[in-house]
Amino acid sequence: MKKILLVGGGIAGLTMLRLLQNKGHHIRLIEKQPEWQISGTGLYMPSNGVVALEKIGLGDVVRQKGFIVSTRHIMNAKGNMILDLDLEKIWNREKPCLGINRKTLHDILLKGIDHTNITLGLTIDKLKANHDNVDVTFSDGKTDTYDIVIGADGLHSNTRTLTLGNIPLRKVTAQICRFIIKRPQHINSWSLYIDTIGQFLIIPMNDTEAYCYVNRKTKGFKTFDKKEYMKPFEKFAAPVSTILQDWNSETSHWDDLEELSPLSIMGKDRIVLIGDAGHGMPPFMAQGGALALEDAVVLSTLLENKDWSTIATSFTKHRTDRINWTRTRNRKREKLSKLPFWIAKLGLKKVGEKNWTEDYRPLAESPNW
Ligand SMILES: Cc1cc2nc3c(=O)[nH]c(=O)nc-3n(C[C@H](O)[C@H](O)[C@H](O)COP(=O)(O)OP(=O)(O)OC[C@H]3O[C@@H](n4cnc5c(N)ncnc54)[C@H](O)[C@@H]3O)c2cc1C
Repeated sequence: MKKILLVGGGIAGLTMLRLLQNKGHHIRLIEKQPEWQISGTGLYMPSNGVVALEKIGLGDVVRQKGFIVSTRHIMNAKGNMILDLDLEKIWNREKPCLGINRKTLHDILLKGIDHTNITLGLTIDKLKANHDNVDVTFSDGKTDTYDIVIGADGLHSNTRTLTLGNIPLRKVTAQICRFIIKRPQHINSWSLYIDTIGQFLIIPMNDTEAYCYVNRKTKGFKTFDKKEYMKPFEKFAAPVSTILQDWNSETSHWDDLEELSPLSIMGKDRIVLIGDAGHGMPPFMAQGGALALEDAVVLSTLLENKDWSTIATSFTKHRTDRINWTRTRNRKREKLSKLPFWIAKLGLKKVGEKNWTEDYRPLAESPNW
């Protein structure tokens, strides 16, 4: 029986645990939070993430508990349509994408997991990679030895730092604001309202709830007084202006966006980094959750091979093309998001659908797992 340590209980870690728990291994997941704290609000799950969820047998339940998103609407501040994208066409499948509450997805991933495999409030202090195993020192001072260690501990991964040293994060933008609202009944699609001052996105998460993702354009990293942040959006047409009547800066989630420098190997020997720990990037393509799910599916397949001594190398080989493509396209989208509004609008009208289709083309192809 082989021993596996999973560090981090987010999307990547919990999916990995689900996939490995009945394979005859001894598996342990440690999560540094003393109790589950699901950060964020909602998640837009593009079709390749839904395909991965189907692969692990959760396709029906996420469709039932989330909201099927088949169109993207991009509008100006008055609510006039700039681009109407048919996601079934872009992804070449029915019911392609989803909006879902992050807590709902977390609960779905946790259901059916043997909880005796999980320890909350624990992390790692030291890792020592040997040829045949990895020695681990935990934050409670105890030690153990594992056949592999899987770092699924997010963008600021300690597994990564203990394995590869300090890899820099690039600061991308500051003050993204997210919050949950009662779903305006006519909002059935991914609905983005844009203007010179920024972007206001509404994504349905289920029949009754939606979440908003708001990015106010700045030069450099200027930060705003949080209470004043939404002022310019109050001039937008309904539903934005009506949503903002009840907005509360203190109950909203505020994030800075960062990107991890590309890693030539996601880990080292028997230590593997998955999800944001291996390739964290800002959500311009909304791919972080989807790639984390894909990582878990691919790694669980690779672990069916008997030799785990170079698992980090083989995992990297299987994932590099898809991740590099996404990173490159994500950076292109980051640049586009900073264009003056009139140029962005013209570009969206003329080549929006073509660009969008090309951005997701390789991710829409059937994966080789
Ligand atoms: C503003 C914003 C919006 C986003 N929107 C989307 C979207 O719409 N769609 C999408 O697909 N992606 C989106 N993402 C990205 C997505 O949230 C991440 O890619 C995804 O959560 C990565 O999952 P993960 O499991 O790798 O890491 P995480 O979700 O970060 O989970 C890591 C887990 O490890 C734990 N942990 C951390 N350090 C340690 C440690 N040392 N020891 C033990 N445990 C530890 C953490 O507590 C956490 O539970 C967004 C990100 C941001 C910032």
